[in-house]
Amino acid sequence: MLVVQKYGGTSVADLDRIRSVAKRVISYRERGDKVVVVLSAMAGETDRLLNLANGIDKSPDEREVDVLISTGEQVTSALLAIMLKCMFCDAISMQGHQVRIVTDSSYTKARITAIEKERLVSELDKGRVVVVPGFQGVDEKGNITTLGRGGSDTTAVALAAVLQADVCEIYTDVDGVYTTDPNICDRARRLDTISYNEMLEMASLGAKVLQIRSVELAKKYNVPILVKTSFGEGPGTLVCKEESRMTMEKVVIAGVTYNKNEAKVTVRKVPDKPGMAAKVFTSLSDANIVVDVIVQNVSKKDKTDITFTVPKVDAKKAYKIMEKTAKEVGAEGVSIDEDIAKVSIVGSGMMSHAGIASKMFTVLAEEGINIEAITTSEIKLSCVIEGKYGQLAVQALHRAFGLDREEVEEER
Ligand code: ADP
Ligand code: ASP
Ligand code: MG
Repeated sequence: MLVVQKYGGTSVADLDRIRSVAKRVISYRERGDKVVVVLSAMAGETDRLLNLANGIDKSPDEREVDVLISTGEQVTSALLAIMLKCMFCDAISMQGHQVRIVTDSSYTKARITAIEKERLVSELDKGRVVVVPGFQGVDEKGNITTLGRGGSDTTAVALAAVLQADVCEIYTDVDGVYTTDPNICDRARRLDTISYNEMLEMASLGAKVLQIRSVELAKKYNVPILVKTSFGEGPGTLVCKEESRMTMEKVVIAGVTYNKNEAKVTVRKVPDKPGMAAKVFTSLSDANIVVDVIVQNVSKKDKTDITFTVPKVDAKKAYKIMEKTAKEVGAEGVSIDEDIAKVSIVGSGMMSHAGIASKMFTVLAEEGINIEAITTSEIKLSCVIEGKYGQLAVQALHRAFGLDREEVEEER
């Protein structure tokens, strides 16, 4: 078997943890597998490096930020290679530019365009474990790039895809994908399997257990992902095609998510005529800002409010752009609200079941939670609510849709 294993920040947080990673890798080698290991930086390291840069400049040069933050992964990959060799397991680390994980030049959120696999394959054929730092890439001109927060997952799946690995194992601090974040709802249940589409929605709606782009790639190239804990054993969760899922889990709702990383921007009293929404959203897309939920109010006196959400990191930038656009289109002004939460339910069973939306709205109403905006897709339903109600909403929905763990199980 050819296995790609990725270990997240908490799994490589210190030398003891790195030693456990090495032991696991060696156990795979001993059963005859070829192993590529992708590592994150030590827990907290990427934030520490970013803080250093922010201490100099609130918006530091992004090319240099990538040079800086890519070092976290360089450290762990070298340490694991050293550890493996000390434990008599032949290994070599190869940085993103050495493998040649080629990306575009969008610093801090680069996308992989190609991966050269020749050197990787030749090292594997020599019987070596290849350790690749996650998150790193290199653009056509040789500049170092990074793939966005959580990007090591994407490195791992991309390598698994080009190497046609049998499985991509993602080792983290929880023992699988849960019906909701187990750290905010103690009744969350581990799923044995989840489909790519459901995982895609969960990831994009706030379940940071996998970076969304890693799931997109896995779906595109049909890479099975197994999410497991590095702190023990256990079956984990298999992320795979819908058809391969176990019939037992044909539930309507697979999970509930909650995201506090978006901000709501409202452009007030926009003239209600053709072309206005196009102007608003083109100016945002020109600035590479991804817009999520969009609501346009009923027009009053030929004026309407347009509300949308953007990632919090882009909120200030979006606000500035909107102030300019508002002037250009003759709108009254712009306001911004960073204290929101988006709570969502996800499940492929939604396509064939009526009454899911009304149930969600009723549950929120019963908790006295006001819905500020709604967005849907075939397999998800999201509501924007006031930030302070986020966790309460998740717990109420989790219970109402029958996802809570049973008492018996809890006592074990
Ligand atoms: P790593 O550093 O290993 O990449 P992350 O912190 O990125 O780990 O992702 C793991 C975390 O994802 C968990 O600790 C958990 O709090 C969070 N999480 C959010 N939603 C879910 C979910 N539905 N299932 C499992 N974990 C989740
Ligand atoms: N170290 C990077 C981060 O903290 C990438 C990753 O861990 O996946 O976002
Ligand atoms: Mg992660």
